[in-house]
Amino acid sequence: MIIRLAAQYEAPSVVALYECVVNAMRDTPFDARWDMAFHPTADGLRAAIAAGNLFVATDGEPYTSPRIYGAFVLDDEQDAGYTQASWSVAASDDEVAVIHLLAVSPTVRGLHIGAALVNAAARIARVRGKRAIRLDVVANNDPAVNLYRSCGFVDLGIFTLDYGGGLVMPAHLMELDLVSTETVCGARTLLTPSSPASCELCPRRCHARRASGESGVCGATASLKLARAALHLWEEPPISGDTGSGTIFFSGCPLKCVYCQNHEISTGNFGIEVDADRLSEIMLELQYQGALNINLVTATHYAHLLPAAVEAARARGLFVPIVYNTGGYERERAVRELEGIVDVWLTDFKYADAALARDLSHVADYPDRAARALARMVAQVDRRGGIMYDGDGTMQQGIIVRHLVLPGHADDSCRVLDLIWDIAGDIPISVMNQYTPNDAMRAAGGELARAVTDEEYEQVLDHADELGFTTMFWQEGGAVSESFTPAFDTTGVLAAADGPILPRQ
Ligand code: SF4
Repeated sequence: MIIRLAAQYEAPSVVALYECVVNAMRDTPFDARWDMAFHPTADGLRAAIAAGNLFVATDGEPYTSPRIYGAFVLDDEQDAGYTQASWSVAASDDEVAVIHLLAVSPTVRGLHIGAALVNAAARIARVRGKRAIRLDVVANNDPAVNLYRSCGFVDLGIFTLDYGGGLVMPAHLMELDLVSTETVCGARTLLTPSSPASCELCPRRCHARRASGESGVCGATASLKLARAALHLWEEPPISGDTGSGTIFFSGCPLKCVYCQNHEISTGNFGIEVDADRLSEIMLELQYQGALNINLVTATHYAHLLPAAVEAARARGLFVPIVYNTGGYERERAVRELEGIVDVWLTDFKYADAALARDLSHVADYPDRAARALARMVAQVDRRGGIMYDGDGTMQQGIIVRHLVLPGHADDSCRVLDLIWDIAGDIPISVMNQYTPNDAMRAAGGELARAVTDEEYEQVLDHADELGFTTMFWQEGGAVSESFTPAFDTTGVLAAADGPILPRQ
């Protein structure tokens, strides 16, 4: 299911959805008293679509005759009666979004589509820079009140609202705080600041006493080290868009891939030590520079710092999505505890064969770990409403699975695709052929001393097509260019000499 802006040509389907919902609600105990002759009208729905405020839950992209399962309007129109409530989030009127007319087709009740729509509305409101969502629910509509409560809305009580046309009704006024980072994962026990005392953050669980100065297998100590923080234009189009992804490269890596292109930072541990406050500030600076998202590149071994850093940045105005860009070697528990922090999972799936994973990345359990982590990421995305894009096609919530084809190992690549399909079905994948032998691989000779051939790449792409992947990114060039491996020169890591470029609050 995709939640996206409705297209103008879909207006008849949207009107039909609301007619169906209105008819199904009429004379039930939770009748919201919607009336297609008065509210919502077909013209009103068309106007909301034209204004870019009406979103639909569908099973497909525009112009493919998708079915529409639900819809809502998100704008900033607060009813005059909203002034009766003592709202808890301090926000000016233009920092408040309002949900109207949230509706789910009676044919798909019980599938949690209402919750998916509410979560989607929260994401969109954040992207629009809002601090809170407010709404009203007529007092008798207990299912709607319960839905919003379960999604984190606070019920401020029942007030009398004038809906016009002589319809005056008691209604709940409810509010969702978008400033506090939401989490539905329960208590975090792994991702806490004290984790590095005996580190178990990644599947290696090497128990390095990082807090006492020891380095883990990943190379990390207690100090947060970053190699670069800058806009990057060469991720997949839904990540980089036209203006760039705000990449933050973390030093060190739990994987030890012999062919790594980023070896200066992954094994050389190149970078500058900063504190978690600076990490928050960098996120805001990247947003200020126009980043479409904050792209945390290989942050696995610093994941314990992310909840607080992201929450602090959100409190200071960060509204773009958080992309977690990982080698795929993650603990399920870490993925679970990153729910509510991470919006987009940009995860590798490198190997299907354990012996290959052992030989090339020194982790024989990679396929098993990556598969379990992927399953949890996909479940998390599904629970939160599925993959979601903004009007420009930038992913706001979701997942992309990457796979780098290695020379001489196209068969394993096909098995990786089989695994992804079995675990996740038709999700967006990115199949890359940018492998370029590093000095060590050239010196060692053998298959990994060369680039991927066109035949190998096509074998893998064809297999992806045969499996049925419909959203696939692939590369036209061959071996890596500098654009894929930016200079790790600590750009953006330290505050400018005359202070951070971020306008301070
Ligand atoms: S994150 Fe680093 S220190 Fe922690 S368990 Fe993994 S390799 Fe060891």
